[in-house]
Order: sequence, then structure tokens, then C-alpha cells
Amino acid sequence: MKTLSDILQESVREGDLCEKMDKGFVRCLACGHRCPIPDGQVGVCKVRFNRGGKLYAPWGYVGAVQCDPIEKKPFNHAYPGALAYSFGMLGCDLHCSYCQNWVTSQALRDPRAVSSPLRATPELLVEDALAQGAKVMVSTYNEPLITSEWAVAVFKEARKAGLRTAYVSNGNATPEALEYLRPWIDLYKIDLKSFDDRHYRQLGGRIQPILETIRRTYELGFWVEIVTLLIKGFNDSDEELKRLAEFLASVSLDIPWHVTAFHKDYKMTDPADTTPEMLRRAASIGRAAGLRFVYAGNMPGRVGELEDTHCPGCGKALIKRYGYHISKYLMTAEGCCPSCNTSIPGRWAERFEGQLASSPYLPDFRQRGAPLTVLE
Ligand code: SF4
Repeated sequence: MKTLSDILQESVREGDLCEKMDKGFVRCLACGHRCPIPDGQVGVCKVRFNRGGKLYAPWGYVGAVQCDPIEKKPFNHAYPGALAYSFGMLGCDLHCSYCQNWVTSQALRDPRAVSSPLRATPELLVEDALAQGAKVMVSTYNEPLITSEWAVAVFKEARKAGLRTAYVSNGNATPEALEYLRPWIDLYKIDLKSFDDRHYRQLGGRIQPILETIRRTYELGFWVEIVTLLIKGFNDSDEELKRLAEFLASVSLDIPWHVTAFHKDYKMTDPADTTPEMLRRAASIGRAAGLRFVYAGNMPGRVGELEDTHCPGCGKALIKRYGYHISKYLMTAEGCCPSCNTSIPGRWAERFEGQLASSPYLPDFRQRGAPLTVLE
């Protein structure tokens, strides 16, 4: 009987993000691990591999598809209210013990993560996104960097149809991957999980590539928002949060920083759930560092005005939120405060058209007569 790994090894095409090395090795350039891979072996992510001196990358399937409000990704300064058609493949270059998407991200490492990938084409995904009324196409759920060739194929089709595009990523990128992605991606969300390299090594990575990605994505003109999942005893000390916020401020005071609440998940079941007070403390550290847009997430109605967007010029509440729901929207068509005309950084639609959904739902391909079949 075929294993998941066998099935996925048939759903590939030759990768673009790689370079040939001596003795039949190839170096993968898709993520910050920069794996040198000998013939017949897989990289750290287990989904990119060397066969006969060529690098192969995932292609032609999705591990998950869902319609999300864009506020869930989260983007607070990009097309508020838009429906974000979200797709992912399988696998990850990190192995975070608290991953909230572990069923897709750890599918190749953890036998408990049972996944049934579905055969897909960029055309079919975009057609469904349009039928759902989506405005943004998002690669998420697994780490999109490791499946960038497929994401670019989907995004090319999405752009043709007038959709915006986004990555929800751990930020463990390479300069080569970002150059490859730049023409096709509008929005880039990065998790900055800690400001301590020892913590990143526990998760299977290093902090340096992530910091470089944040700086580089901003300089390259992606719209960047940063998320830090606040975990008691892991990354919530005042000292660590201060250094993290000061780093973001050194890149730009205009980068939105979301501090979000941890709840017990996957293998991390020891730390207590994050409290509203912890989020408020982290947010005040972000503001003290000079960041102009700091948000507290995952606690609807419990963090006061930290869910809302305020004008940094006059303080007016421009967008009010309750969780993913937008209850008030006052921005001008030019993306400015209507009271003092301060320009608010972000990617804004000319007008707010309401929300098709303020909670996630699954598109039903079967009803539409365009079924995605299970890979086997
Ligand atoms: S995506 Fe990253 S982990 Fe996977 S093979 Fe390439 S460099 Fe290695």
C-alpha cells in the first residue's frame, strides 16, 4: 500500500528554486535551511527531493482549502473585509510543538496527522475563489515557501483574474526565494515567534534568516504584517519582547505587529493560555518601541481598543473590530483618516464593501460540479 510520502512523490515537478552542486547534489534555495541534497534523498521539509541530480518540488494538489476573512490571516491593513481564499499543501521546514496547523504542516513527520491531499489545478482553484467572491488568494496552512513553485502558478492565474495574493509564512526565506516571489505576491505575513535564537533552534530553525526576511520583504515592497504568538515562559519576558519590538521599529514604525493569544495545542500543553493582561503588556512594549499599529488578537472583546485601527495623527478609531468582524469602517477612498487626513499605511480598497464572511467556512466543490479528487 502506498504511503503518503509515496503519493506526494508522484505529485511533483522540477523545482525552480535550486542550484546544481558537485557529485549529483542539488542545493534547495526555497527556505533558509538551504539543504544540500544528495541523489535519492529528501530535504529537511521532506517534500522537496533530489532524483537523478534534479530537484523536485510539490505540484498539483492541495492539503487544505478554506474561505477565511482576511482578518484571520491576520491582515488588518490590507483590504479589510475581503474574503481570503486560502489553500495549502503539506509539510513544513520547522516543527513547532504548538503548531495550530499541524495536521497539514507535520503530515510527513507525524503519523497522527492524517491528511488526504486533493488533486487540483491553478485554474480550478481560481475559478472557485471567484465563485466564492474572494478578493485575495492566500497560500497558508503549511509553510508556503517550501511549495513556492506551486503557489506562483496559482498566483499567476489569480492575478489574471484580478485577485490579490498573499503568503502566510514563518519567514524562513532566502533572498533567492523572495526575488522569485516578488512579482506575484502583494501581502506577506510573517510569524516572528521569538527573539532568541535558542528558541528558534527548538522549533527547527534559526532566527537570522527570519530577521533578514522581515527586513528584505519590507524593502522589496511587499505589504508586511508581523505576528507573535505570545506563550508564557517561552517568549513573553519584557526583555525579549522589547528587543523584538525594537527590531521591528528599526525596520519601520509602520509595520503592524499582532500579538496573539496562545492556547494549548499539538504537543505544547504545559504553558497556561495567554491572558488579556499578557497581550496588553506586550502591546504596551510595542508602543513604547514606537510601533504605530499594535494589535492584540485571538481574544474578541477582551482587549479593549487593541482590536481596532486608530489614526496615529489624531487618535480617531478608523476601523473597529470584534474578532474577525468589522463593526465600523471610516477610512477614506485614499486610505486616509477622514478627520485629519493622515495617510494610513497599507493596501486599501477604494471602498469598504462589507464582509462576505466574518468566520471561516469550507467551499463545497461537489455542489459546484467541479470536484477535487483525492490523490491516491
Ligand atoms: S524547502 Fe527548505 S527544508 Fe525543504 S529542501 Fe528546501 S531548503 Fe531544505
